[in-house]
Amino acid sequence: MEDIEDLLVAGGGGAIPGFRVPVAAAVGVNHKHIKKNRISGSISNATSCNSSKIPGTQTIYLKTFGCSHNQVRKNKFVEILPINVGCLGACTYCKTKHARGHLGSYTVDSLVGRVRTVIADGVRELWLSSEDTGAYGRDIGVSLPILLNSLVSELPPDGSTMLRIGMTNPPYILEHLKEIAEVLRHPCVYSFLHVPVQSGSDSILSAMNREYTVSEFRTVVDTLIELVPGMQIATDVICGFPGETDEDFEQTINLIKEYKFPQVHISQFYPRPGTPAARMKKVPSNIVKKRSRELTTIFESFTPYVIMEGKIEQIWITDVATDGIHLVGHTKGYIQVLVIGPGSMLGSSAMVKITSVGRWSVFGDVIEILTEQAHSRENLSNRNSKCSNDSDTCCSKDSETCACGLASSCGQKQEGTISVSMNDQKPRSQNLIGWLLRKRKNNSQKEMENEVVSKFEEKLRTSEWAFVDSALLGVMLTSLLTAIAICLYLGFSGFSSK
Ligand code: SF4
Repeated sequence: MEDIEDLLVAGGGGAIPGFRVPVAAAVGVNHKHIKKNRISGSISNATSCNSSKIPGTQTIYLKTFGCSHNQVRKNKFVEILPINVGCLGACTYCKTKHARGHLGSYTVDSLVGRVRTVIADGVRELWLSSEDTGAYGRDIGVSLPILLNSLVSELPPDGSTMLRIGMTNPPYILEHLKEIAEVLRHPCVYSFLHVPVQSGSDSILSAMNREYTVSEFRTVVDTLIELVPGMQIATDVICGFPGETDEDFEQTINLIKEYKFPQVHISQFYPRPGTPAARMKKVPSNIVKKRSRELTTIFESFTPYVIMEGKIEQIWITDVATDGIHLVGHTKGYIQVLVIGPGSMLGSSAMVKITSVGRWSVFGDVIEILTEQAHSRENLSNRNSKCSNDSDTCCSKDSETCACGLASSCGQKQEGTISVSMNDQKPRSQNLIGWLLRKRKNNSQKEMENEVVSKFEEKLRTSEWAFVDSALLGVMLTSLLTAIAICLYLGFSGFSSK
């Protein structure tokens, strides 16, 4: 037993030694059940007490920490699918390797099976996660492009479900760059990749044992940007790794400035106990902090989304923003778009007009919901048939499973092929809903403002009257004392004259 995933295997028969199988679809989180048990108190206690005696019926409470790789679904529409655990690296700062160990890839068939299941379950976005996506399959004799092509062929032809490829280090993806670029161009795959560079200095990369050079990192980025329209790349940087000089750090700054990555995860080096880097001579912490602040300031000065303002984009909506008002969608390049609309828009794809842009995301107005209709299904199936018969224009090598009927040639999206229009009324009704929601929000904001103003005015009035009352009381007291003084004076004068 190497991992918790090995506890449950598809078919109940167990995996072939050395092979991993993802957790079966029947295993899931039942939040309702947890809530119900909390509410129903003693009855549920009795039930759980009885069921605890029946093997296989017990409830296990799991709490997950860390990145998405540690999580089994993000929400109803987003499935996080680990494709392997562990890696082939030996980075000198890394503690993850101690926990995850050597590369262990899940089989292509098991992952395809899982994808089929979750799509049937209503999932609209699949995140492939891994310590190093590029290394996938090297332990079981397959490769990342083989897996990706198999998964893409399972995506529904209506363009409703998107695939997001997880983080990859440069070394193992280098030899598959063209195939990966082809997959990233597919209309149902986000043109987005997370490729951590960690440092812009070769000597620091060598001290980190990252197994690539800055030049190789550049090759990955340049090739993908050149071959994939709208490609977005995120990266990571560690500031203040042991031995990092001012010159080394300067090279990192220059690299980040040159590419102006839209997302850079900046961290300060922290020695993890038991790692080789923990025994290396540290850079003073004030310098580490200074470098991290400097890089953050540079990165935050970028304005990567300014050119999007006014553009029309297709997005896939899968979540609710933390403000509870906006819905979260992503463009093909995985740029976050915040829109206002009813919860029923979750899980759908829409055309939006970008109305304003921020540093981390953009705002848009929904102008059309893209849904699959009967006539479009027929059209798509016709297109699939054509695809199967015409090997020159088909983007899939396997005509039996070609599911890319949305594109006429090699994954390039054609205008009007992926978008399935609704009737004319629905966009207007969706706009109306958006307008009503905005109006509701504005009205409630105004109500709150009015409440605050009236409370302030009341307080002001109260304080004004308090002042007048005090002044009147003072005048009355002064008058009384004056009258008493006059009476006493007159009385005393009269007494003296007698
Ligand atoms: S940082 Fe290096 S050693 Fe650690 S998990 Fe990633 S590739 Fe593996």
